[in-house]
Amino acid sequence: MRSELFRAKDIDAGYGRVQVLWGAGLAVNEAQTIVLLGVNGAGKTTLIKTIMGLIRQTRGSIQFNGADISHVRPDKRVRAGISYMSEMGCFPGLSIDENIRIGGLFMSPGDLRQRMNELYDIFPDIAQRKHALASSLSGGQRKMLGVAKALAGNPKLLIMDEPSAGLSPLFVQEVITVLARFRQAGLALLIAEQNVRFLALADHVVTMSGGRMGFSGTVQAMHDDDMLRKAYFDIKGKHGA
Ligand code: ATP
Repeated sequence: MRSELFRAKDIDAGYGRVQVLWGAGLAVNEAQTIVLLGVNGAGKTTLIKTIMGLIRQTRGSIQFNGADISHVRPDKRVRAGISYMSEMGCFPGLSIDENIRIGGLFMSPGDLRQRMNELYDIFPDIAQRKHALASSLSGGQRKMLGVAKALAGNPKLLIMDEPSAGLSPLFVQEVITVLARFRQAGLALLIAEQNVRFLALADHVVTMSGGRMGFSGTVQAMHDDDMLRKAYFDIKGKHGA
């Protein structure tokens, strides 16, 4: 049994007076991949930003690696080993090399150099163009750069907000393939998505709607549940890219 790495519990949060999350939460074990499914506006981004400390919860707690990080600054959460890849993924106005360096800002120069070499081996397309602006990359390559940037600091947990956003089905598959490689190596992943193709990576699925958590279980259990199967799988193309 894998031990628990992360838990957000009973989170209420929102924007000013607008409450968006109502008792939301989830847990991720060491080396486990959780897919957080929900349609537009379900509250996935708000939950992720709260987990990263970018939005302050008004209730609830967040634990990571045995410590309570509920009131820890965002940069310290990153230093502790949680990495966040937003929908945008990378900074288009910076070079590929600069983007990855920013992702590894907290590493010692020697460790960062070694990590960058490892990442450039894994992502040869972007390695060939280290000094080009990220804006010159294709959508799929930019997403790969986003993954490389998010992994530069050697995190224990990578949290991704809709990695499929703006990608063609071919690139969605490429992103899934590359994530599978890191998952296999023991990285814990929390992936917020609407695209059910990411369930191929999932050890566990949680759903969200209206700022509240719904189902929590395996992909197989989702298939076995009539309502969930109809909502997420039966209508061809509805949620798939
Ligand atoms: P999406 O895939 O569209 O990003 P989501 O599941 O990530 O959807 P959120 O972006 O967390 O959902 O949005 C949840 C709710 O919070 C929505 O009703 C949205 O309109 C609202 N919301 C998001 N950002 C803000 C904001 N800055 N101010 C006020 N309300 C917001």
